Parts: sequence; structure tokens; C-alpha cells
Amino acid sequence: MTNSKKSGVNKQSSSAVRGRGVILPIDACPSCGKALREKRSTLSFPVNGENIKVKKARHLSCPDCGEMVLLEEQARYVQREAVNTYRDKYRLLSAEEIRSVRERFGLTQAELSKILRLGPNTISRWEMGRNVQTAAMDVLLRLIRDLPESLEYLRKNVA
Ligand SMILES: [Zn+2]
Repeated sequence: MTNSKKSGVNKQSSSAVRGRGVILPIDACPSCGKALREKRSTLSFPVNGENIKVKKARHLSCPDCGEMVLLEEQARYVQREAVNTYRDKYRLLSAEEIRSVRERFGLTQAELSKILRLGPNTISRWEMGRNVQTAAMDVLLRLIRDLPESLEYLRKNVA
């Protein structure tokens, strides 16, 4: 039982997280119908193609068959933590740092997205930890932060 439980968890973990969690109206195992229990364990989430481990991530687990389910907020937590860890690892600006750069210049998320020629929701996703900026975009954000006149330059050159 220990073995099958273990492999069940491992097998389910990536697909459940990748699918952004399965929302269940009741706490029943989708495989066998037993009541799920809350557990904490290390899960991994892909950020830019790299599997980032998130420790002590809460999720629901079936005591019988090992099926694992993440509620929407649990899946979001794993994603946010994975993005944070990735940013730390590659020394990219954090979500808070990006927000503070933007707010210092009184820009909305949509305005900054436009200046950087990104999709309208990109900055919002970065600030919510749903997505991570590329290294090149990180450089541009630092440029705006450290050389404020570069914002004027970028503004003038927005298509
Ligand atoms: Zn089950």
C-alpha cells in the first residue's frame, strides 16, 4: 500500500498542478470516492521549462489510492512560490520590486505593458506571480528603476 500510494502521488502531482488544480465540490477522491485528507509535501511546478520544487505545499490526498488533488487556491500557491523561487535563483526582480518600480512612476499595469510592448495583462501576471519576466525584460525594468530618464525614452519610442 505504501508503494502504490507513493507512486500515485508522484504520478498525479505534476499533472494536477499543470492542470491548475481540479476543483471538487465535495472532498471525495475522484478515483475511488474515499474522503480526501489535507497533506503537505514537496511538489514541483515548471517555470520556463525548469521544474521548481515547492516545499510543504498543501494539497488533498486520498488515504486509500494515493490520488492527489489541488484546490484552485492550493495550485495558485504552488505556482506563486515556484515563480518566487525561480526569481530568487536567477536574481530577477521580485513581484513587489516590479510593482514598486511601476508605482514610483505612477503607471498602471496596462501602461507599463504598453511601454515595454508586452500584452496588456503581462505586468499583472508578473505582479501576481503567475508568470515570470524574461532576463531581457528584467534588464529593461532595472534600467527604468535606476535610470528614470530611460522611461521617457521608451515612452517616445512606443509604436
Ligand atoms: Zn482514492
